[in-house]
Amino acid sequence: MRLKVLGAAGEVTGSNYLLECGSSRVLIDCGMYQGKGDDEKNRAQFDFVPSSLNSVLLTHAHIDHSGRVPLLVQKGFKGKIWATLPTVELVSVLWQDSVRLMKEEAAWKTRKNERKGLPPVEPLYKEEDAQKAAHLLTPATYDDKIEVAPGITVRFRDAGHILGSAIIEVWMEEDGKEVKVVFSGDLGPQQTVMERNPADISRADYVIIESTYGDRSHKSNKETREEFRQVITEALKSKAKVMIPTFVVDRAQRLLYEMMLLQKEGILRDNVPIFFDSPMGVKATEIYNSHLSLFSGEIQNHVKQGDDPFTPNQLHYVESVEDSRRINDIKHAIVLAGSGMCNGGRIVHHLKHGVWNPDNRIIFVGYQARGTLGRRIIDGEKILRIAGEEVTVNAQLHTINGFSAHADREDLLAWAGNFETSPVFFVTHGEPKSSQALAASLQENNLKAVVPVIGEEFVRGHSLLPDNVIK
Ligand SMILES: [Zn+2]
Ligand SMILES: [Zn+2]
Repeated sequence: MRLKVLGAAGEVTGSNYLLECGSSRVLIDCGMYQGKGDDEKNRAQFDFVPSSLNSVLLTHAHIDHSGRVPLLVQKGFKGKIWATLPTVELVSVLWQDSVRLMKEEAAWKTRKNERKGLPPVEPLYKEEDAQKAAHLLTPATYDDKIEVAPGITVRFRDAGHILGSAIIEVWMEEDGKEVKVVFSGDLGPQQTVMERNPADISRADYVIIESTYGDRSHKSNKETREEFRQVITEALKSKAKVMIPTFVVDRAQRLLYEMMLLQKEGILRDNVPIFFDSPMGVKATEIYNSHLSLFSGEIQNHVKQGDDPFTPNQLHYVESVEDSRRINDIKHAIVLAGSGMCNGGRIVHHLKHGVWNPDNRIIFVGYQARGTLGRRIIDGEKILRIAGEEVTVNAQLHTINGFSAHADREDLLAWAGNFETSPVFFVTHGEPKSSQALAASLQENNLKAVVPVIGEEFVRGHSLLPDNVIK
């Protein structure tokens, strides 16, 4: 058995692992790098021949796990791409959106290059590549064993991160012996709200574990809900506009659900319109609505009572650009729009038209990376150039960090603590500080942990242990 870490080592994005056993080769995730200036990394040649892979397994739909799959297909991969049915549906929508964004960016760069006498810029992949990739998607049911290559059997288990997310268990036969590797994918918290809790797994020889929040603890669900309730109550008093920049898959549906609850409590009244301004978000919510049986007991209880968990009263889906502009003239409303960090998408024009007003509110519900418009607003910049116009930031700002769909430090340790076979943990998908902190915590709990570097290869019986284990 040979495991090669090809992405998400020392960083969060670009998840990509190659697993080989005999002559069988399987790729787990093939994500896009999403940091600033990562275009080159996304365009870099694959470290393997795409046509030599038997199959690809996707842990979930997020672009940092799935975004380079159409490129893999363009470069000759023709096998099956295994994923749960919700992931199959969500990823098809996300790839289409990627194609659109890359096309726009390439056209913009080409225009810039033309003025300098430089050659045009091609997008990373095109519509036809995404379509071909979508044809190769093959649904994998949760909890059933599937043979994905000769001698390689897998099982998708619920990861509790977003709809369709999976932990993947992999069994391989080598020299008549069974070896088991578990990929955590992105893990949800131990106590989820909408999704089911991540599956406990007790046996493995090797575990690849994410560490996005390996060094941090989140607020409890109760505290986060109380915070949201207070901010919304306060915000509604001024009868102004509440703008919420949000990721449109999962985070937005969580907010819609929380708003449905606030309406039931009478805190949010039916006379306040809620606009969800995102064509992609509309499709994502449809997919969420069509898989209600995969959600938590809490959500299913609401379904039983006849509630529509992701459709609060007065919810208006906004698809056309004209309808999006019309919101500018509405004074009192809640507006949800992407992107989550305000570095693009329709939220930008809502901010441009709304941040000057001291009665308006902006609620940040997700991480704002350095350099993004969202971060600059949070950091207190008063005069900003938004969509070509200079505007003054007078709106009141709120930040709620507890809506994360990721496990925190304690959650990760609890999940890792379920293994009874003393596996080796490969700590990935985190900034170096988080990955090192989680590895150290695992070791304090007498578990074996390694923080691999990008490109590192582990061959069973050779470099796996003990040299690479942090002491
Ligand atoms: Zn994710
Ligand atoms: Zn991720």
